[in-house]
Amino acid sequence: MIPATEQSASPPRCMAAAGSRPVRILFVDHASRLSGAELVLLDVVKSYSHGSTVLLFEEGPLREHLDAIGIGTSVARRAKDLGAIRRDRSLLAAIPFIAGMLRLMRDIFVHARAHDLVYANSQKAFVLAAPVAFIARRPLVWHLHDILAQPAFAPAQIRLVAWLARHFARLVIVPSQAAADAFLDRRGNPSRLKVVPNGIDLQPDTASPGDIRRELGLPSGFLFGVFSRLAPWKGHQVALQALQAMPGAHCILVGEALFGETDYRIELHRLVKELGVSDRVTFLGHRNDVPRLMRSVDAVVHPSTQAEPFGRTIVEAMLCRIPVVAASNGAAPYILDSGSAGFLVPPGDPASLREAMEVIRSKPELVSAMTERAYSRARQLFGADDMRRSIDTLVHQALKAAS
Ligand code: UDP
Repeated sequence: MIPATEQSASPPRCMAAAGSRPVRILFVDHASRLSGAELVLLDVVKSYSHGSTVLLFEEGPLREHLDAIGIGTSVARRAKDLGAIRRDRSLLAAIPFIAGMLRLMRDIFVHARAHDLVYANSQKAFVLAAPVAFIARRPLVWHLHDILAQPAFAPAQIRLVAWLARHFARLVIVPSQAAADAFLDRRGNPSRLKVVPNGIDLQPDTASPGDIRRELGLPSGFLFGVFSRLAPWKGHQVALQALQAMPGAHCILVGEALFGETDYRIELHRLVKELGVSDRVTFLGHRNDVPRLMRSVDAVVHPSTQAEPFGRTIVEAMLCRIPVVAASNGAAPYILDSGSAGFLVPPGDPASLREAMEVIRSKPELVSAMTERAYSRARQLFGADDMRRSIDTLVHQALKAAS
């Protein structure tokens, strides 16, 4: 595999390879809800506001944020909700949606012809855009935000997207070596694969932790937070089990079921009652002020039970100088420098999670040195400008290779 992306020292370019007009990119994403992949897209498109378009399959908050940036957006009006097609389920679920998918492909084709390059930002977008970009004779970039492996993906879906990537993608961008390794295991083409870590633009907040807690009605004792959308593999249940064994501690759960995981939300509320911690857990739902909320907690917990392709919330906590305890899977060990920039614990292990939080509670000096290392590492490796520059360089290389 080609190693980490070469980074140019120049600011992001947005000119087409030939001539001086801006490069026109058609970004395609099936979702308009703000999960990590869509937040990355919001940062990436900032380099391409002239002549580029984001094509979405649904209305939603992402579109409002894109409008605020000033990039053109379009919503495929005839799209049926593709939410019933789940990446971890059988492809047969897609059969009732075939007509709708063909209409979407026609929309992508029409837009692709008016752009220089197609950039698929989600798996569903990639599956539909891959054959279309080929027919429209436009180079295709796939920003793959996932670990292409079971159980996150069903075997047939892995085979399908790996085949499409081999035959149609000019470039596949992944956020971590963990995601790259999974892609290569599926016979991904190493010469077309690049690792570009997510970059985070974090606006520092100056409110005092005490004021934020008062505003939210939170107590003054040890407080930890999970800042992840509600999905079973994000491991909130593990954090709640750890909380049960920490008398006097309180936990905030920040995030919502963005992709139909309402059963999981109900299950979490049930678990809170069953564990007897109802008065020590606050569900805050989806929030747009995560960095501010992070300042109010003593620890950020990232308890994913499956491998994390990246884990933006880990980096956000590092930039807020809040200690992190993360499940040691996927990209977390790299982000946390094998444990020197945060605590790594085995996935699905509430006892280890609790032990790490007890260290945070009892050893402020150790923690303060760790958070300083974490802050420096995050600033050095996970800047949004670096990510934009790297992707822009790669996009231009892809355009050049296709011309
Ligand atoms: N996030 C948010 N509001 C919430 C919960 C999460 O804005 O209520 C953000 C969080 O700050 C992070 C992103 O959602 O930037 C989640 O990205 P991550 O890579 O951690 O997980 P993903 O959603 O991609 O699985």
